[in-house]
Order: sequence, then structure tokens, then C-alpha cells
Amino acid sequence: MMEGFGIVFGGRYYSGTEMLVIGIAFILLCIVLIVISEIITGKHKDPARETYFYWRGDWWMNLKAVCSDTVKGNLSYADKFFGLASYIWKKNVFGKLGAIFLFFSGLTVTLTSFAFLPLFLVPFVCVFFVIFMIYNVLALIVNMGAWLILKLHGVFALCPHCSHRVTMPVYKCNGCLAEHKRLLPTARYGLLYRTCDCGGTVPTMWISGKHKLKAICPKCREGIHSKSAIPMTIAFIGGRSSGKTFLMMDFLCLLQQKVLPRRKWKFSVDALDDDRMKKIHERFSMGKAVQATTMDDVVGLCLEVKKPGWAFPKRLYFYDPPGESFTEVDKLRPGFDYYEYLRYVIFVIDPFSYDEVRRQFQVRGVNLGSAMVSTMTANDTFTALLNAMEEKYGKMPKKATVCAVVINKADVDYFKDVTGLVLGDIGKPCRAFLEQHDGNLVGLLEENFTKCEYFAISAQGRKRGPSGEYVPEGVENVIEFFLNEMG
Ligand SMILES: [Zn+2]
Ligand SMILES: [Zn+2]
Repeated sequence: MMEGFGIVFGGRYYSGTEMLVIGIAFILLCIVLIVISEIITGKHKDPARETYFYWRGDWWMNLKAVCSDTVKGNLSYADKFFGLASYIWKKNVFGKLGAIFLFFSGLTVTLTSFAFLPLFLVPFVCVFFVIFMIYNVLALIVNMGAWLILKLHGVFALCPHCSHRVTMPVYKCNGCLAEHKRLLPTARYGLLYRTCDCGGTVPTMWISGKHKLKAICPKCREGIHSKSAIPMTIAFIGGRSSGKTFLMMDFLCLLQQKVLPRRKWKFSVDALDDDRMKKIHERFSMGKAVQATTMDDVVGLCLEVKKPGWAFPKRLYFYDPPGESFTEVDKLRPGFDYYEYLRYVIFVIDPFSYDEVRRQFQVRGVNLGSAMVSTMTANDTFTALLNAMEEKYGKMPKKATVCAVVINKADVDYFKDVTGLVLGDIGKPCRAFLEQHDGNLVGLLEENFTKCEYFAISAQGRKRGPSGEYVPEGVENVIEFFLNEMG
């Protein structure tokens, strides 16, 4: 390894391998010294008990006990010798010589019991230090390994409240709610678990169950998701009345009720989002549009999905920014602060926003109702969004983002006659329809995303199910498309 490379230092030649070993040893030594200095200065004290080898650990008590027991035991023997010597001296039983012998025996025991201390302590300190070093290096390897695994998989936490990228969440002990600010595998507090000051066991790694603890954001101190997962944003973009909020409800419900169970992928909802998610399912099953307040809260509605074989789940941040906000970028916050993690976009198009299409339906006597008055065309919506995003965040993260272009409301009578599209169509025919009415938009979309696929759907469905629930049509195609893209 690294043959042919070396340096001469202090009259000795050091090969590349030797230099590497020396370098690693030096780094490890530095880290151990930093750890020791942290302990001495009391920095980063978490409310947990230190492990055996640490300052407040049991080694000190054990050492004190060993020393004091040994010395005390020996001194009590010496005491017996002195007592006997004094008795013999006074009574003159075996002559003075016996008494003097016993006195010196006592003295020898006394002196050796004190001489034992350095004789015992010096090797003890040496062995202790070696074990301490090995233990620290082992802990460091575990810590770095755990960190590297999370890093390589792209696992980290995003605060759903202040959109801060959280590198070190604060975890709360389940027993006493004490805050552990640096919950990592460490030599000081323990590798897989640590003992909280309250006596409770606190897991330090994802494999030992860290996600069972409550986590908070160190910046805004609000609750964050504690499971280790790969964050990805899935954004529903569309003009007002395009039906994108409706589609998000369909997407969430069908994903959990049908598509994921069918694919045998695991999924879970964090306690943080449980209430909102339940409300969405409830509204869906009752056939009622989801309340604006449930969706308006743009932050953090998450679903964790895990395909068999994935090491970590993906945490999908569902995000439905209010349609009219695309011209005012600050209204896009905080959801779009995640835009760096934007992986999936659903661009919802209201076909009736095209004058020609609307006219064709009116000619056929179809009442499009009051909901169909989109003030912005899809093209204007997308251009406004792009401008706002670029102004605030720079270019769209094109490389990583795929887009489902969804033509909604395909259940209306005469839809096929006017558009040439059938509900559930995917790909070419949908793209051809858009090309015809909004060629510029197709160009823009394909330029800004890695991949675009086109769908004709009905988010609201033509009719209700047997219990009055919504029966959206074509939406499962969109879900399947994204799941296929996830790998
Ligand atoms: Zn925060
Ligand atoms: Zn505790």
C-alpha cells in the first residue's frame, strides 16, 4: 500500500503505510484528548450517567474501595500484632525478644500496606488508560460508522415548523422529559443506550430505538419527526380551483388505503401528523372536501414509506401551497424552504381554464358551474411559480425532480368529444392535448424537470362509493408513477 512514497525524517525513512498509521494514530489521540478535555471542562454535559471509565463512573468508587479495603484490612492485622506485642511485653511471657519481633511484624504490615498503593496504582493507571483509549476509539468508530451510514443514505431531519435542517435534534427522555442535546453513541454515556439521570434507559441509535423518543428542533424548540428517514418533498402545484387540494387528499388516502398495501410497502404516520392525517381520511370516507384549515397549514404533513429492502424509510413531505400565492414568494414559505429536497411535483391543470375548451363545452350545453372560473391559466401559474422560486432560491433543482402533469376534471360529459381524452389516459394523448392548447407550458415543464408524465384524471370522481366515500379516477396511476420513480 502506497509503495514508493515516503519521507526521511530525523534520519529515518518513513514509508507511506507507516505515515498513514502514524497519521491515524495521531488523529485518534487528538480526539481522545478532546474528549478528555471536554469531560474536565464539563462541556456538553447531558443529563445522563457516565459509563464505568468516566469521571463520575463506577471505576473511581471501585478504586477507592479497593485501596481503602486493602489498607484498612492490613492495618487491622497490624493492630493485632501491636496488641499482642504489647501484651507479651507487659506480661513478659516469652521474653522481650518475642514482643519486639511481633512489633516489627506489625510495622512491616503497616508499611507494606501503604507501599502497596503505588505498586498497585501505577500499573492500574496504565492498564486503565489503555482500556480507556481502546474504549474511546471503539466508541468513535461506532459513532462515525453510524454517522456515515445516515449520511450516505441522505438521512436527516427537517423541522416542519421553521424548516431548519436539524443536524442534532434534541431528544427527550420518555421518563422524566429531560433534554438530551447530544444523543449519540459515545464512550462517555454509552454506545447503544445510556442511563438518564432519572434512571430510565435512553436509546442512542436508530437500531436501539431512538425513534421512540420525542424529538424537538434546537432552533425553534417545536416537535420534529424522530424516526431516521430520507426527506423528500412532494408538491401539488396548480391554479386556484384546479382541484389540487382535492387531489392531495385522494393521493394521501389511496396511497395508504390501496396502493401501498397492494405493493406490500410499509408506511407510518408520525404522532406529529396523526391528527391531520386522520381528519383527511375521515373527510375522504364521508365524501366531503377536506377543510381548508387542515390543508392550509402548509407545513410538515408527512408520510413515511418503506419498500422492502430499503435501509431507511422515505419521509414524504406533502405540500400544497395556496394557488394564489405563487406571485408572492413569501407566502410560499415555509414549505418551499424544503425546495432543495423537492423530488416530486404534481402539476394540476384545469382544462376549463383554456378558453377554447370552455367554449366547446358550452356549445354542447354543459354547465361547468361556478368552480370552473380559474383566473390564471396553467402557463401563468407555472411561470409565476418559477419566477418566485428563482428569485428566492435560485434555479429549480432540475436533476432530482420528476413531474406528473395532471389534467383534472376528465369526468365531465363530452370530455372525450372535446379533448380526445379518456379518463385514465396516460402519456401521449394527454401531452398532445396540452400541446394543442398550451404548447409553451409543455416546453417549460419538460425543460424544468428531469422527467414529465401526463395523466387524465378526475380527483373528485363521477360518483360516490357505497358508503358515500369519494371514488377518484385515474389518481392511482399518478401514485404508481411516483412509487416507480422512488425505486
Ligand atoms: Zn424548528
Ligand atoms: Zn429521564
